Amino acid sequence: IEETAYQNDKLAMLGKISASIAHEIRNPLTAIRGFIQLLRPHLLQIGKDEYARIILAEIDRANDIISEFLNSSKPSAPQTTIINVSSLLKETVLLTESEALMKGCQIVLYEPDESTYISVDVKQIKQVILNIIKNAMDAIEEIGHDDAGIIEIHIEEVHKSVRIHIRDNGNGMDNNTLSRLFDPFFTTKESGTGLGLSVSYRIIKNHGGVISVESELGKGTQFMITLPFTKFKH
Ligand code: ADP
Repeated sequence: IEETAYQNDKLAMLGKISASIAHEIRNPLTAIRGFIQLLRPHLLQIGKDEYARIILAEIDRANDIISEFLNSSKPSAPQTTIINVSSLLKETVLLTESEALMKGCQIVLYEPDESTYISVDVKQIKQVILNIIKNAMDAIEEIGHDDAGIIEIHIEEVHKSVRIHIRDNGNGMDNNTLSRLFDPFFTTKESGTGLGLSVSYRIIKNHGGVISVESELGKGTQFMITLPFTKFKH
């Protein structure tokens, strides 16, 4: 109980800090968005409208993250839609591909059963999976794999739930890190914010799900997200 009160205090503080910086970050984002819109016809002409689409989507995602932080002291109810887990994972992995390529790690998505549907806030769940994949890439970079870094994603059905496993062969965690990784502002990285997993934890909790982790120092880490599923289409 004490632990929870401490977390809530920190989350309230996080909400206040976010409120003051969100405004400052949103202004340049709005300007960038406007200018990309202006460039869009030119990009279309040279057959690169796809670039504009990706930039706009990423700006919108950044805006969503800001909103997410703003809501940290006052968690919002998820805006749920029913989505196929397979497409949700595919779309999310696609967003990380260029970074993975740069960092020399491979992301393997074991094709889940196309008929598994979940009722979730798609943007929020994508955010959680992105956070975990990005951490996995950092962990792989940390251990210094020579292009042998691998992130494996698979899903499993567990008693009326869907469990998403995200496993990496990065540097793993010691017990101290393991016990604190969901704390707001806890980070072991030089330029980390320590927010990714605390926000992820809250998002999954708001969805009635569970997020858990197994890790071995020097070997790797596995995150598991369990979400209640909606239905199976046959
Ligand atoms: P940040 O990435 O900004 O540090 P997070 O909340 O996402 O914030 O993560 C908190 C900490 O948890 C990280 O600094 C890192 O020490 C640890 N961590 C998270 N994921 C992994 C992973 N896959 N492998 C090793 N350590 C991890």
